[in-house]
This record gives sequence, structure tokens and C-alpha cells, in this order.
Amino acid sequence: MTVTSTVTNWAGNITYTAGELHRPHSLDALRALVRDSPVVRVLGSGHSFNEIAEPGAGGVLLSLAALPAETDVDTAARTVRVGGGVRYAELARRVHAHGLALPNMASLPHISVAGSVATGTHGSGVRNGPLASAVREVELVTADGSTVVIGRGDARFGGAVTSLGALGVVTALTLDLEPAFDVEQHVFTELPLDGLDTAAFETVMAAAYSVSLFTDWRAPGFRQVWLKRRTDQPLSGFPWATPAAEKMHPVPGMPAVNCTEQFGVPGPWHERLPHFRAEFTPSSGAELQSEYLMPHRHALDALRALDAIRATVAPVLQTCEVRAVAADGQWLSPSHGRDTVAVHFTWVEDTEAVLPVVRRVEQALDAFEARPHWGKVFTTPAAVLRERYPRLDDFRALARELDPAGKFTNAFVREVLGG
Ligand SMILES: Cc1cc2nc3c(=O)[nH]c(=O)nc-3n(C[C@H](O)[C@H](O)[C@H](O)COP(=O)(O)OP(=O)(O)OC[C@H]3O[C@@H](n4cnc5c(N)ncnc54)[C@H](O)[C@@H]3O)c2cc1C
Repeated sequence: MTVTSTVTNWAGNITYTAGELHRPHSLDALRALVRDSPVVRVLGSGHSFNEIAEPGAGGVLLSLAALPAETDVDTAARTVRVGGGVRYAELARRVHAHGLALPNMASLPHISVAGSVATGTHGSGVRNGPLASAVREVELVTADGSTVVIGRGDARFGGAVTSLGALGVVTALTLDLEPAFDVEQHVFTELPLDGLDTAAFETVMAAAYSVSLFTDWRAPGFRQVWLKRRTDQPLSGFPWATPAAEKMHPVPGMPAVNCTEQFGVPGPWHERLPHFRAEFTPSSGAELQSEYLMPHRHALDALRALDAIRATVAPVLQTCEVRAVAADGQWLSPSHGRDTVAVHFTWVEDTEAVLPVVRRVEQALDAFEARPHWGKVFTTPAAVLRERYPRLDDFRALARELDPAGKFTNAFVREVLGG
């Protein structure tokens, strides 16, 4: 077992009290560590911005990065079984080599699969659920060191994937695949918010397989529209905005060299669906992030509410991204049971300046049943969260069944689950 002193998350805004990161080299060593530790939390690729992975004083922080990075593709079944420490970039390369594809990806391919699906991470697309919707089976090492396998069809499955790391150590996941496809990325500039009615907004968000709107809120409307079109789907015009004249980065003024190919050059799904290239590995990020997911029907009203406070938001904002996420069935998924619009904020790296603005954004979005992204900065009170997750009691019961002593529960999870 390797023990290293990794004390912060990727953004550097969280320092884990555990002070050291345990990296077992085998499943047996992992089982023993879990069995013999009072409190355990897994750190994936550390790309969350809050204390969701924090085990607390005396707890063990554990990484799966030293375990064999399994990615076993079954071409006949069109599935892949992927190890609990593997990141999307590596998984995507392996899957593509077999002529297969994941249905969607997040903006950055460097995040771990298990950590992403645990927090409800998503890409965009009116017909694309969050990344967890590709998962068909989860393998967990539970509190006594034994393995529990939960697949679709099991009554517990709704709690098993987007689980905030509260059920056990996810040592493997099996994901559905589809035949590989190509994507073209087209970027447009200056989409007015004023001119959009509900029908036009729906059409914009459905204009391609995956659509992202970006704004810095320094002026009304959106500075950029990114359309990711599958080449096997029809090409429709986009009369609402102007084609970009140069390659763009979502943060105005940043060099676009690390962004995936634009200008409609077709390429494999995994080199177009993320916004950032896999070859570019950011070791840390000078940013904080927040995100709120609301029923799609509230999208325009929510955007107008943000427009009304843009003078407060803009000074601490790098960029704001609007995406669509289709409803899914995971009990703790921010898009559980409702087609969703997701409004994301990349803030400056200054917690003190950002937190009051986060609170202001939450007030502005309160009327729209906003559910915060589990992996990002939010201050939504636990009582409000409990109102917004109708299956929370089912999740609490599942956590008690699989982990009666609360070995995988931390302060973050206790706050969310209450009772
Ligand atoms: C630059 C950047 C871009 C991002 N882009 C997007 C985006 O496009 N869409 C989006 O929705 N989110 C996005 N995020 C947020 C990110 O996807 C989530 O925070 C996600 O949880 C990151 O996964 P991770 O493994 O790095 O998380 P970590 O912070 O390491 O872990 C997250 C949670 O998962 C648990 N966990 C991790 N691995 C395991 C395991 N094997 N077993 C049990 N529990 C585990 C941890 O205990 C923790 O509770 C982005 C974040 C960054 C920094």
C-alpha cells in the first residue's frame, strides 16, 4: 500500500483533514483497509469543490489510483466494465478502439468515472441523461470488506449510482455503450436572451445533440453557443446567432488552444463532446464552480432572474454555462424525474468574494426548484434539499441497510440526509 500526503482537492480550496491518501495496490488490501477503519471516504480525481469527499478527523481517505485500471469491453453485449479509479479520458480511448462510444461526456475528460456518477455529473443534450444513466451495474466494497453488486432491475439500483460515496467503495461499474459516432462542433456568438420566447429557447437547446450557451453576464444574453452535432443526425441551420470567426474558449479572452476542435471539423465523439482536450492535463485550477439544475419549463424565467442580478454576478464570474439534461431515475440525481436546464458558474478563485454571490444566486433561483450540483459550491439549506428530493428517505434507508454503522458517512452526507 502506498501512502502519500495529498491534502487538497484539484482546485485547492479544500484541504482534507485526513492529511494522507491511502493507495492500496490490490483489492484485498483495499478490503482490509475498509474493514479495519472506522470511517472511510474515497477521493476520486478530486475535481469536486466542496467537502463531499472529506472523511473528517480520524477518518481514512482512500484512492483507487494504484489498483489495476481495468476497462474490459464486451463488444457483443456493448458494455464496458471499468475500475473504480479510471478516468473518462482513458476509458473513452479504450472504448473507441473497439468501435464503440459512451453516449455523452462532461466538459473535462480528466475526471474519474466513479466520482462523476456519484455526484450526478452531466454533459448536455435534451435527450441525454446525466453520465450515471449509462451505468447498468455497480460493484461496491461495503463496510465489512465484502462486495455487493447492484444492477438495473434490483430495487436498490435507484440509490446505487448517484450515491455521494455514501454506500461503500465503488470498485467497478458496468456501462452501456453504443456504436462509435462522429461529432462536429460549431460555435456561434451573441445570442440575445431578450428575443427568446419559450418555443425559441426549446429549439435552440434542441438544435444539436449537445448544446451549451455561455455568458459572462457582463451584458445581457449569451456570448457563445456551442453546438455539438452528431454527423449521423440531420444538419439544421442556426439563425439565432453569428458563426464565430475564430476558435473560442468558454472564458472570454482565454487562449482556445486547449479546447476541442471547432469550425465543424468532424471527429470522434470523445474528441468533441468534452470542451477540453484530453492531451491537456490541468494539474490544478484557479477557479471555483457552482451549478443549479431546474425543471426545463422554468429555464427562461430562471435565466431572466439571473439577468436581473448580473451586476452582482459578473464581478466574480469567469463564465456561466447553460446546458440541458434529460430526466433520469437515480434518487439523488439533480435531474431525477424531470427534464432539466443546468446553469453552471465558473467563479474566480476567491471563496470569500464568491460565497455571498452564490447565496444571491440561490435566492434568485429559489422559486424554480433548483437542485445544486453535489460536487460544487452551494449553500442551499439541508431542509430545502430534503424538500427537493422526493426519494431521499429511500436513499437513507439504503445507506442504513448497506452501511448500518455509517462508516462511509461524513459531515456532508449527514447534513444532506438529516434524520
Ligand atoms: C474543470 C472541471 C470541469 C467539470 N465539468 C463538469 C461538467 O461538465 N459537468 C458536471 O456535471 N460536472 C463537472 N465538474 C464537476 C465534477 O464532475 C464532479 O465534481 C465529479 O464528482 C468529479 O469527480 P472526481 O472523481 O474528481 O470527484 P471527487 O471529488 O474525487 O469525488 C466526488 C465524490 O465521489 C466519491 N467517489 C469518488 N470515487 C469513488 C469510488 N470509487 N467509490 C465511492 N465513492 C467515490 C467521493 O467520495 C466524493 O464523494 C467539473 C469539475 C471540474 C474541476
